[in-house]
Amino acid sequence: MSKRETAAFDAACIHLRAITSVRKAKRYECEDCVKIRARWVHLRTCQECGGTRCCDDSPNRHASKHAGATGHPVVSSAEPGERWMYCYPDEGFLEY
Ligand SMILES: [Zn+2]
Ligand SMILES: [Zn+2]
Ligand SMILES: [Zn+2]
Repeated sequence: MSKRETAAFDAACIHLRAITSVRKAKRYECEDCVKIRARWVHLRTCQECGGTRCCDDSPNRHASKHAGATGHPVVSSAEPGERWMYCYPDEGFLEY
């Protein structure tokens, strides 16, 4: 995933500003890749429904597809030690 690190906290979009607590991955796996036995690179957790899916560096890009299909805009990184969120429609990036 390309990170746009220009967005400061107060410049972040309404979706990122609306997040008050960050949802964490329930399981450290892409729930869609598991079904089709595919591999992933990194994991992202949807902040709307809490589902965890794979990033844009992964062959199936399930997190992007989920955002496009559902309109759920914001994911957080599910990678250990990473503390950032990304808004797909606004390409907004926020570290927390
Ligand atoms: Zn947004
Ligand atoms: Zn996946
Ligand atoms: Zn979702």
